[in-house]
Amino acid sequence: MMRQVDLVERVKAYDPGADEDALNRAYVFAMKMHGSQTRASGDPYFSHPIEVAGILTELKLDHSSIITALLHDLVEDTDTSLGDIESMFGRDIARLVDGVTKLTRLELQSEQTQHAENFRKLLLAMSEDIRVLLVKLADRVHNMRTLKFIESADKRRRIARETMDIYAPLAERIGMQGFKDELLDLAFAELNPDARGSILTRLDFLQAQGDDLPNLIVDQLKRAVASDGVEAWVSGRRKTPYSIWNKMQHKDITFEQLSDIMAFRVVVGSIEDCYHALGNLHAQYSVVPGRFKDYISTPKPNGYRSLHTGLIGPERHRIEVQIRTRDMHDIAELGVAAHWKYKQSEIKVDGRQYRWLRELLDIMEHASNPEEFLEHTKLEMFQDQVFCFTPKGDLIALPRGATPVDFAYAVHSEVGDTCVGAKVNGRIIPLRAELGNGDQVEILTSRTQTPSPDWEKFVVSGKAKARIRRFVHMKERDQYSELGRQILQKSFREEGYELSDKAIGAVLKKFKADAPDDLFAAVGKGNTTAREVLVAVYPGVRDTAKRRHLWPFQGRGRASANKAKSAALPIKGLIPGMAVHYAHCCHPLPGERIVGIVTTGKGVTVHTIDCETLASFQDTPERWIDVAWDVGETEDMHTGRLHVVVSNEPGSLGNLSTIIGKSQGNISNLKITNRSTDFFEMLVDVQVQDIKHLTDIIAALRAASVISSVERARR
Ligand code: MN
Repeated sequence: MMRQVDLVERVKAYDPGADEDALNRAYVFAMKMHGSQTRASGDPYFSHPIEVAGILTELKLDHSSIITALLHDLVEDTDTSLGDIESMFGRDIARLVDGVTKLTRLELQSEQTQHAENFRKLLLAMSEDIRVLLVKLADRVHNMRTLKFIESADKRRRIARETMDIYAPLAERIGMQGFKDELLDLAFAELNPDARGSILTRLDFLQAQGDDLPNLIVDQLKRAVASDGVEAWVSGRRKTPYSIWNKMQHKDITFEQLSDIMAFRVVVGSIEDCYHALGNLHAQYSVVPGRFKDYISTPKPNGYRSLHTGLIGPERHRIEVQIRTRDMHDIAELGVAAHWKYKQSEIKVDGRQYRWLRELLDIMEHASNPEEFLEHTKLEMFQDQVFCFTPKGDLIALPRGATPVDFAYAVHSEVGDTCVGAKVNGRIIPLRAELGNGDQVEILTSRTQTPSPDWEKFVVSGKAKARIRRFVHMKERDQYSELGRQILQKSFREEGYELSDKAIGAVLKKFKADAPDDLFAAVGKGNTTAREVLVAVYPGVRDTAKRRHLWPFQGRGRASANKAKSAALPIKGLIPGMAVHYAHCCHPLPGERIVGIVTTGKGVTVHTIDCETLASFQDTPERWIDVAWDVGETEDMHTGRLHVVVSNEPGSLGNLSTIIGKSQGNISNLKITNRSTDFFEMLVDVQVQDIKHLTDIIAALRAASVISSVERARR
């Protein structure tokens, strides 16, 4: 474990202006608060934050990051509060520690790693300050280094898998090659010790055989590069067992001689020298075709830059060589973390070659929130997504703008079909509300619920849209077919006939229908009239004479509606918005006398019998249909629209809504249509059970002194 003075000295060595006092206080505080807690290794717990801080000094990170590393487990694992940290170390440190704590909680919440890509994105999205992520990665590096002490093999494997699936790719994403290689290899050791063991054995064998070969190659390469005065540092390093294993799995690589498992690196002073060195090597040795890559002119998305080439090199060994400048080297190894190093050693980050880094750093320093950060970074384009959790901690990724209904369908189609409400972070929210990053969503379901056509208007995910649409289509067909059957039954009866499958079956062909249901649906939809079907089945029926009976509203006037009521079509059970629509001109309510108008392709629109709109259908009696609310109570609520004039004074609107609320009415919409100094005029939509419910509300409103008039709105 690193001693306090050593840690402080290390930081001071690369950052002379570091806050020594704060570093000391953080060290002592972490030690004191973690107290006698121990790690699986038996070491005192506080050795862990200190090691994590030590790892970060290798990246030469600023003292705030080092202090954050020292304090990173206090909030999660001790009695320390964020407030304590803020009062001792200031807001900045508290914010960083909070970030790391949040990532830790996230990690604890999601036990499964099958959504690794999403989880990775979430971690990145939640790291408002990239230093939070660096501390978290260093934390993981140390935990992986000490993984072997954990007793449970299951737990070890889980952590190793998570490291391989989430943290190593994350390290790569932000350009931290060093972290990535170490994390992958440590995970590999846990997940596939046999494979790693055999590769290591082979490596050792080749190394013993090759003897001094690496040094020999390095010397010769150096001579070749420097032949015309280019100054270069040349080194050789053994590839990690995991990277060899990975290449063996994905590519057909040879694994015969030592040079196959070494990578050689040439570091020079300038970009010009990179190409110069490349030219010298290509002049001296045969080039392996297809191995040359210029990542200097075309950097990798994570900012990596180098020249790669393959040579039949010294002693005719096939080798790989990477050529880069010192700055490129630092960025390759440290990625984002290289920034702090540049900052304090005054190396200017300029020119096109650092644009990626500069942009990233600019954004990190100036972005006020993670969305803004992500919107601008080239790191990853996923601001079009939002990540939420189930109560069990499973991660669900959805398109931005997603609602609880989208979430429900993402969990399971069944859950989507039956969802009636949602709790987000413990609070009930509307089904159409937009979900945010990190929300925990609990879906409330009811067995009697079915998808509503309304949902289609606000869901954004393809799965939800498709499911709802399919359901609506299916249901709609059922509804049209049921409506059509009833319409036919009624008109057949009025002529003294019974509707039978046999009778219908005989005329299916004529109407180009495959089954009775198809013909019923055509009638329900208004594409075929009941009369046409009747005449087809019984050609003897002459239509003109009987029409009056069928359409009682014509000629004899509206009063006859009453007589026909016994034969009226019940609309109960038909879902509004599908085969049956309530007219928006008159907002019919149960208990009122109503009439239906068949609209081709749309089904039946229900109006109140005194609705003025009906006048425009006088000339098309065949479209009129006698409908009735079914007997008995309906639990469904209906919209009644009121035209209200209220005096313009404080509290009058409150008064209005109180009265309506007391009468068990629910205001679903309110629109002020006119406002003068004395009065408001408005339209109020109220959800009510039936006409009596609405007239009760009207009476209650009329009794209030602030309300000058209330009428049912017509139009
Ligand atoms: Mn930790």
